[in-house]
Amino acid sequence: MIIALDGPAASGKGTLARRLAAHYGLPHLDTGLLYRATARALMAAGERLDDERRAVEAARGLALMDFDEDSLRGREMGEAASVVGAIPAVREALLEMQRSFASRPEGAVLDGRDIGTVICPQAQVKIFVTASPETRANRRALELARRGEKVDYAAVLEDIRKRDERDSQRSSAPLLAAADAVTLDTTALDIEGAVKAALAIVAERAASKV
Ligand code: C5P
Repeated sequence: MIIALDGPAASGKGTLARRLAAHYGLPHLDTGLLYRATARALMAAGERLDDERRAVEAARGLALMDFDEDSLRGREMGEAASVVGAIPAVREALLEMQRSFASRPEGAVLDGRDIGTVICPQAQVKIFVTASPETRANRRALELARRGEKVDYAAVLEDIRKRDERDSQRSSAPLLAAADAVTLDTTALDIEGAVKAALAIVAERAASKV
């Protein structure tokens, strides 16, 4: 079974993806890390984030050891990832890696922006996870504070809005719910409530597609 979770920044899709993967014993790929790692490789080499040729080289050169989550999770890297994610050739360079992860016989859980629309349009279960920008900014601010980053709520909210706009407006694989995705709004839900709702969606979808 392939479970595709898409949605904007800090909607809760990452947490849900990890919980669903644990529940069903499936491997999980957080595809945002691929874009974050590409951005970090460019920055480390002193290159511009919008240099298409260098960005594609960086995306092609990614190795698994590049996905050390902790160093990729910061605020700056999320912004940078959204800049490289807007380059179609970078998305193309990262496509095969994601599809090959999803093609394992047992299936997989992938979360990102274009999993249900581009990477795995055949996924049995597609969930579009969303929440209000203010709720997402609160969550992101808490998460960054826990990481020890200095947090300015207004700046985090501004980041979220900017990232929503860039991710939704780009021409290649914009953030968009697939026509056959179920939308899960987590604004009024805590983690356990959201997990319960997601499990119910998966159970319903899995039952209707066999
Ligand atoms: O999900 P996360 O916040 O880690 O993603 C960082 C950025 O990477 C997003 O804002 C988006 O621009 C880009 N991204 C993407 N497609 C994906 C996953 C992430 O464009 N499948």
